[in-house]
Amino acid sequence: MRIHAIECGSMRPFGGRLWDGRTPGLGPAHLSCRCLLAETDAGLVLVDTGFGLDDVNHPVPRLSRAFYHADRPHLEADETAIARLRRLGFDPHDVRHIVMTHLDFDHAGGLTDFPWAAVHVHAREAAASRRRATPVERGRYRPPQLSHPMKEYEAPGEPWFDLPAVRGLEGLPPSIFFVPLPGHTEGHCGVALGTDDGWVLHAGDAIFMHSELREPLAMPPLAAAYANFMQVDRAARLESRRVLRALAREHGEEVTILCTHDPSLPPGAERRVSA
Ligand SMILES: [Zn+2]
Repeated sequence: MRIHAIECGSMRPFGGRLWDGRTPGLGPAHLSCRCLLAETDAGLVLVDTGFGLDDVNHPVPRLSRAFYHADRPHLEADETAIARLRRLGFDPHDVRHIVMTHLDFDHAGGLTDFPWAAVHVHAREAAASRRRATPVERGRYRPPQLSHPMKEYEAPGEPWFDLPAVRGLEGLPPSIFFVPLPGHTEGHCGVALGTDDGWVLHAGDAIFMHSELREPLAMPPLAAAYANFMQVDRAARLESRRVLRALAREHGEEVTILCTHDPSLPPGAERRVSA
């Protein structure tokens, strides 16, 4: 299985390195919307979709006005998943499956660009996105992005590195499955992908920066504030991060852990992921 990391849009909120840990000054930061594209025996598989063409063409009200102004998404047609994978030489119709870490607006925007693909999501996430129970949930889950039918999963399968895993995704190789990492959203999951040479775990927004996995734990203050604002369950979010830190510490050689919004890939990722 060959895995590509692709940036499908980004966000440019003001605050520079206070957000992303690296952009000098307090101007626009760079928060990536990192997706994965896996070449598998079951066709191309996308993990998350970033922002899509309809977001570029009709940003509001497809996106909530509040998040549009606060997060300042950088919306360009040639940065969408469908354009990125065409540029890598793939036919978008070969994307057979899309596996979602969660259904936030900055991850689900490209779903509508792949109406032929099967979409896989944790059942608790799908339920939360339908309920839209709070003002934050009404802002984060956007019905025009989520019109695609989705296959939902909840039953735990065989654990993975002692972590609960939700396996048996219909039509996908058994080496691709969910690792629930709740807290950011109710049904938030990591997506594990087995390669010939170890594992890749897309941890979505369970962490915002790869520095959260290292010693000492470091997180730019505005990223930390945003993570607090967006969490639905603080204790669960911190536990998910603790679990990821333990996985990085004990199995860092066997597993490449990466997240959505850090503008840089973690050190050593190139061994299993091409950028
Ligand atoms: Zn996000």
